Amino acid sequence: MYNVDAVRKQFKAFDQKINGHDLVYLDSAATTLKPDVVVDRIQKFYAMESSNVHRGAHHLSDQATRSFEAARIQIQKLINASSDEEIIFTKGTTEGINLVATSFAEHFFRAGDEIVITELEHHANLIPWQNLCLKKNLKLKYISVLADGSIDEDSIEQIISEKTKLVAFSGCSNILGTFLPIEKIISKAKSVGAKTLIDAAQLISQKKIDVQVLDVDFLVFSAHKLFGPFGFGVLYGKKDLLHQMPPYQYGGAMISTVDFEKTTYNTLPFKFEAGTPHVEGAVGTDSAIQFFNSLGIHNVFSHEQQLLKIATEKLSAISEVQYFGTAQNKAAIISFNLKGAHHSDVGQILDQMGIAVRVGHHCTQPLLKKFNMTGTVRASFSIYNSITDIEKLILGVEKAKRMLL
Ligand code: PLP
Repeated sequence: MYNVDAVRKQFKAFDQKINGHDLVYLDSAATTLKPDVVVDRIQKFYAMESSNVHRGAHHLSDQATRSFEAARIQIQKLINASSDEEIIFTKGTTEGINLVATSFAEHFFRAGDEIVITELEHHANLIPWQNLCLKKNLKLKYISVLADGSIDEDSIEQIISEKTKLVAFSGCSNILGTFLPIEKIISKAKSVGAKTLIDAAQLISQKKIDVQVLDVDFLVFSAHKLFGPFGFGVLYGKKDLLHQMPPYQYGGAMISTVDFEKTTYNTLPFKFEAGTPHVEGAVGTDSAIQFFNSLGIHNVFSHEQQLLKIATEKLSAISEVQYFGTAQNKAAIISFNLKGAHHSDVGQILDQMGIAVRVGHHCTQPLLKKFNMTGTVRASFSIYNSITDIEKLILGVEKAKRMLL
């Protein structure tokens, strides 16, 4: 049995009152709360171990380096990469995608080549490609999304062609919750010799990822959506590709030898990690993964799926609620509008009741425009949410309905 009360006790955020109410946190798709073990680990690092990595000849630096590299191994295991050299530390999903756009696509693609994404991408997996396509005269193509928020599978076949050099797509939509048909997309991409990138920002907390089984070329995620610190993330890349790619940024730590005339670069993964890294980010992420593993991803998934089912049923009883994203196969992310009310007003009323949701375009403006919308209210559920949270959300939406309609 999944014990949500025991999980909640591990988060200090629930000890506070928000606008006089207990916190109902339904914004985990934006960022998860951080458990005490992660906060304590980062605090301990700053208090006792704060030291730079890979270069000091003293105890603290050695200790920091060991903790930093232990985090890399922990992340390697999380996604089953074949080597820790394939785990590049970044500041998050966004930076990982920009790194691949700059060091891989910009370097290797030629005018007329095509990059394929989907219509439901977060701006982080759209704008870097759009910008690159303008700069290099490449073509950006989109796999379509159907009205229920699922991917049009015929479109996968039509859009990915011999001209496609890269297919970059989200494993799970941050606005619709839809899980994408990952294997199908990768298999089609491989059949035309295209490389693949999975934006796993949402997927990482939902499903067990095995990069070797998926045979994906690149995968990116952010620690802050996995109970870890802000400003830290991961780019996984296949070793043979990373070897061929030039560095993304230049400076200390990414070098092997430097002369006034030329520089040789460090081995993987350090070639892509210029400058002093986010050491406490790595250390905190290690704790976050241990915490998440202790819950068991399958237990977490079934808990959240149960919340999704109950919340959807209860919200459906309010006839003014209009859903955006009703695909069969989806994460516990519910985007909706109250017919006749603005999403921001609904969010404000919920906030007064201590209920944290996200409102707006959720960094998916083109998708919303396609369906003639400007925004939604998004309630996203995670490990610490309970049926009581759903009941409070329903009370809040009913209150918003009384006040706004
Ligand atoms: N991709 C998806 C699917 C997301 O949900 C997000 C964040 O909401 C991002 C990318 C960007 O992540 P970050 O801001 O941590 O780089």
